[in-house]
Amino acid sequence: MKKDFSRATLCVQGGWTPKNGEPRVLPIYQSTTFKYDTSEQMAKLFDLEESGYFYTRLQNPTNDAVASKIAALEGGVGAMLTSSGQAANFYAIFNICEAGDHFVCSSTIYGGTYNLFGVTLKKLGVECTFVNPDDSEEEISKAFRPNTKALFGETISNPSIDVLDIEKFARIAHKHGVPLIVDNTFATPINCRPFEWGADIVTHSTTKYMDGHATCVGGAIVDSGNFDWEAHADKFPGLTLPDESYHGLTYTKAFGKMAYITKATAQLMRDLGSIQSPQNAFLLNLGLETLHLRVPRHCQNAQKVAEYLEANKKVAWVNYCGLKSSKYYDLAQKYLPNGSCGVIAFGLKGKREDAIKFMDSLKLACIVTHVADARTCVLHPASHTHRQLTDEQLIEAGVAPDLIRLSVGIEDVNDIIADIEQALSKI
Ligand SMILES: *Cc1c(COP(=O)(O)O)cnc(C)c1O
Repeated sequence: MKKDFSRATLCVQGGWTPKNGEPRVLPIYQSTTFKYDTSEQMAKLFDLEESGYFYTRLQNPTNDAVASKIAALEGGVGAMLTSSGQAANFYAIFNICEAGDHFVCSSTIYGGTYNLFGVTLKKLGVECTFVNPDDSEEEISKAFRPNTKALFGETISNPSIDVLDIEKFARIAHKHGVPLIVDNTFATPINCRPFEWGADIVTHSTTKYMDGHATCVGGAIVDSGNFDWEAHADKFPGLTLPDESYHGLTYTKAFGKMAYITKATAQLMRDLGSIQSPQNAFLLNLGLETLHLRVPRHCQNAQKVAEYLEANKKVAWVNYCGLKSSKYYDLAQKYLPNGSCGVIAFGLKGKREDAIKFMDSLKLACIVTHVADARTCVLHPASHTHRQLTDEQLIEAGVAPDLIRLSVGIEDVNDIIADIEQALSKI
């Protein structure tokens, strides 16, 4: 599949090109293991001397096809699927950080990632400093230390819908000799390709728009191949020094631009094993086939709903970067000119009980712990996804205690607005 096909074509046909007589549709290789004629052939695979399949924890043809579709969509050199978005973000950091290391992260990120980075990674000896992404380059630079190994942010933050100044973040990261890792879950490569703005690694919770139908939890890491690990060899010994578990092979020497993603697969996935099942990869692929059709519809619907909410007297505030009133409107125009995402954050006038009454009165939009699928849904982060955070941490994470997160689906927008209207009339 040619890399220069448009994203729409890659969505439909990327990753799997059947040969003569092979299935037109990507098959599910529902097999843990793969057969070889000689033990020598198998041994070469174990030594990473040859590429091939031997055990699904390391690689599986269905997963690889879907990973290469995602890599092509992002414009990267390689990708790896993971069992969840959480696993993707964990591996993305852990692939270059070990005990004693440090990284810097935007404070306005998904609550699960905030916990992973701030609490769980700390227990493994990896420290994270959270910074306000809207601060100046000088201010953010103050968080860097000699042992800092990465900078991390979300293209569009979940749930606050802030837009990341990717070029600014890339400049800061590169000035300090570390890669920029961007979680591109909400924007998807249909609306933004962070590599084009200087990001080095992209992660995804494929659970959201990529799957798009709320059927499978999954994640992905994509490598741009652009970061020069050798130029900062002392910072990244895991990539630039021999790996004894592969007879002293050095990833940067053996795999060049594929060093980072190969290490993530051959070492982290081998040892930690958070693989996506081939069944789920198959379903993810079905979702990806229509990503380029669904994403614009989500954005069009969300724009109309955001405008409706903004004009409503019962609504205290609306944060949607497609609105001119948004603090992030200009950044959205720059990085997301074709639309941002289907998720809107807003608050109602009145008390917390009014927000709950409103949500309970919705009929078409359901209360679910999910976002970014075909069906309109709604959530109150302070009492659901982010309930483990203190009020102080909530505000630091850009989540106002009254924030309602509305994930606008691809139904008829008039029906969605009518549902919101009848629920607002109850308060
Ligand atoms: C949901 C989400 C995650 C976590 O992904 P899971 O697939 O639920 O593990 C990470 N980042 C962002 C931006 C998300 O929205």
